[in-house]
Amino acid sequence: MPLWIRDPLAIMADAGGGVVVDGNHITELVPTGRRPQTPGCEVFDASRHVLLPGLVNTHHHFFQTLTRAFPAALDKELFPWLRALYPVWERISADMMRAAARVAMGELLLSGCTTASDHHYLFAADLFDTVDIEVEVARELGMRVVLSRGSMNLRDDKVGFPPVSLVETEEAILDHTEALLKRYHQRGAGAMVQIAVAPNSPFEVTPQLMRESASLARRYRAPLHTHLAETRDEIDYCLRAFDCRMVDYLDEVDWLRRDVWLAHGIHFDRDEIARLGTAGLGVAHCPSSNALLGSGCCPVHGLESAGCHVGLGVDGSASNDGSNMIQEVRQAFLTQRLMHGPKDISHLDALRWATEGGARCLMRPDIGRISVGACADLALFTLDEMRFWGSGDPIAALVLCGAHRADRVMVNGRWVVEDGQLLGLDMHDLRKQHLAASSALLEFGGA
Ligand code: ZN
Repeated sequence: MPLWIRDPLAIMADAGGGVVVDGNHITELVPTGRRPQTPGCEVFDASRHVLLPGLVNTHHHFFQTLTRAFPAALDKELFPWLRALYPVWERISADMMRAAARVAMGELLLSGCTTASDHHYLFAADLFDTVDIEVEVARELGMRVVLSRGSMNLRDDKVGFPPVSLVETEEAILDHTEALLKRYHQRGAGAMVQIAVAPNSPFEVTPQLMRESASLARRYRAPLHTHLAETRDEIDYCLRAFDCRMVDYLDEVDWLRRDVWLAHGIHFDRDEIARLGTAGLGVAHCPSSNALLGSGCCPVHGLESAGCHVGLGVDGSASNDGSNMIQEVRQAFLTQRLMHGPKDISHLDALRWATEGGARCLMRPDIGRISVGACADLALFTLDEMRFWGSGDPIAALVLCGAHRADRVMVNGRWVVEDGQLLGLDMHDLRKQHLAASSALLEFGGA
């Protein structure tokens, strides 16, 4: 039966009377004060709810929920932070990974996120099936996912990571990635599971693997993802190892194209921003992680003006240290407002990055918007908590007053969060499993 989500308190669309969801899609936008033309609707009264398109997270590392606020990694920049954490991450088992994926996706859903992109790059023996585990968990929780098969085939002794056990051969990486593309990658509108091809970073993979990854992804019409231009150390590495800057490197390995989205994208000069924009790349802005590691600030305004798509990413939970998408909207808003001022950045910009912008990064025109024909992915927030009392504009209030938890979330036409609770997940059990896993890693890490 079609469902009329009726008369929301506010909505990010021209549909004051709400929306009709039929099956997996939004099928009607209802004008203010009107009833739907669709006959026989069931009704959900949304008069307490602010209705947003489901948020789209464009960068994460689910496994890192196991090492939040990790003592040995506190107060460090990216490279020393990685050196402190890799020996710990090397110890993660498949069971630990399952608990980590449940926690990361659970947190995201509770924060109004309906599509999650994970970038996983640990494929040591026990974690070889991580992507399969993540697909299982996504199906269990009803979440839409774009799972990036990360890879590392290079260990530079001067850099000092990753550990040898996490370095794979180019052949093993490409074979496994292709197997995952065949097994899971859905094409076209409505896809619930997609695979992206995602070498980890220029300092952990060879240019040859970058080129071969691009060619593999394009054969399967899958998107490409990598970390790029996150820190000045990385720029120095690129100059030393390849005698060029980042965007020259991208061009050289055939990544300066529309099917690529980059994580971070901070340290670009004006000419590089123009070239990225002309190519139409996507950039996942990860403001909390960038602030925490002191990496710098993504030039979002310049990138968008040049023609790039900008989405938001919570990034891994060891550098945020949470997976809360609506809080990331606030962080992005404040970060970019600080850089550019009120004339150029509004709360609506930050919400646009978290919805339509993220969808564009992932090349998914079917999500990230409330319109007829879009997937029925919706996030509903109430303004009942004390933090919202006295607020005027309900949509601005979500960002300015600091919303942190959705009341209801729908993915693909199905409620997956009700009354602020995840459906179908035993939180007590999950807490026990996750705590056992994170405690074991903490003990190993010397705490
Ligand atoms: Zn990352």
